[in-house]
Amino acid sequence: MEYISTRGQSEGQSFRDVTLAGLGSDGGLYVPKNWPRFDMETIASWAGLPYADLACRIMQPFIGDSLTDAQLKSLCDAAYGGFSHDAVAPLVQIDQQHWLLELFHGPTLAFKDVALQLLGGLFEEFMQGSGKRLTIIGATSGDTGSAAIHAVAGRAAAEIFMLHPSGRISDVQRRQMTTVLAPNVHNIAIEGSFDDAQAMVKRMFNDPHVNNAVHVSAVNSINWARLMAQIVYYFAAALQLGGPHRKIAFSVPTGNFGDVFAGYVAHKMGLPIERLIVATNRNDILDRAISSGDYSRSALEPTAAPSMDIQVSSNFERLLFDMVEQDSTRLADMMQGFEATNRLTIDSDIRERITALFSSAAVQHDDLARTIDWAYRASGELLDPHTAIGLAAARDAQIDTSVPLVTLATAHPAKFPDAVERACGIRPVLPGRIGDLFDRQEKFKELPGDYDAVAAYILAQANSDLSQAG
Ligand SMILES: *Cc1c(COP(=O)(O)O)cnc(C)c1O
Repeated sequence: MEYISTRGQSEGQSFRDVTLAGLGSDGGLYVPKNWPRFDMETIASWAGLPYADLACRIMQPFIGDSLTDAQLKSLCDAAYGGFSHDAVAPLVQIDQQHWLLELFHGPTLAFKDVALQLLGGLFEEFMQGSGKRLTIIGATSGDTGSAAIHAVAGRAAAEIFMLHPSGRISDVQRRQMTTVLAPNVHNIAIEGSFDDAQAMVKRMFNDPHVNNAVHVSAVNSINWARLMAQIVYYFAAALQLGGPHRKIAFSVPTGNFGDVFAGYVAHKMGLPIERLIVATNRNDILDRAISSGDYSRSALEPTAAPSMDIQVSSNFERLLFDMVEQDSTRLADMMQGFEATNRLTIDSDIRERITALFSSAAVQHDDLARTIDWAYRASGELLDPHTAIGLAAARDAQIDTSVPLVTLATAHPAKFPDAVERACGIRPVLPGRIGDLFDRQEKFKELPGDYDAVAAYILAQANSDLSQAG
């Protein structure tokens, strides 16, 4: 499989290349040159496969000869063997039409584990024998940081430095990172806001002093391998509910448009999907884009669903690229215009193509809280605030009642116990396997919000670990 960049200046990359690179050298995002397609008979023959085996079947065409079948199989077994539920992504029925696809059975209780557990293995496989080590640097406001740390902890091929704003993330979120004591994991609490931490990381990626000393890498959601891993659970859910001979609709709580884009790819690969619902919170750039063509940046509003608090949805560029039929000149014009002015009006031909499959909704706080309460009363299930946004949008979407409607449950309710308790009166408890989180030892470094101090600390640690590794 050959990969190209949405901005048209980088072609002929392999799966291995794009996994290690993340972002395209022209500032665009990597996509496969064409979508692999499976016929109905092939898809139907996968019913009942264990999740890791299904994952191999669906991902193989994207990986091509970057891995042998045996390598892919052992990476999938390792990534999904660590989930606490055998089905990896089990379905739970809420009422006659509505289902939850539980994606939070990985080590950090959020759906990002599904992709990052695999990405950790891919990094290791691709770096092996190169004599080099990746230095992963990131900033987190919560979920991504812990999922990335758990993905690379203890791996010889990578070292991870994760910055978080000191005192500004929840105790559960901090402890999910700082109680990982593997020597290749470095948590840094920075004085300042998440934006300050993020700005430092961006500066490090462009700092020749840092780049000459270490091989820096990112694990953010623009990495193609992450999206690829997320395609699998759309097939898994549909196969459980009578697909591919029956159409299924999905509602996806959305921030960077990564998760729901994976659903779009499943559709392109031949999975019959009735509709994809893009559910946002008050940070509604995607709802405005889809419902009226207004893709413009506005002020960030903190909400009870912080992992969806975004101003710009970076993966939306991948959808636009497909909607202009891979016309990279037109796409690059659109994106450069957006970068210069913070706004983009989506042409009606493009919007028509988008709305043929996608609907959208922006869910306000009261509706989110009511939905948590409703689901608890209807089924006894507790929803986290992100999942509640997805389910609220699903219940409003007026999908024909004969179509099963699956809401992606992106986080375990115990990650956000206060919001859940306020909404329905029940306080969710952490699952047994991390029930001792508050008794575990923490390890992290506190640093001032000073770029030079942080960069110097990272370089000193990375180099001392390198020499220990020999
Ligand atoms: C990251 C995240 C999302 C948003 O996913 P995107 O791929 O950015 O759209 C939704 N819910 C939770 C719990 C998350 O951690």
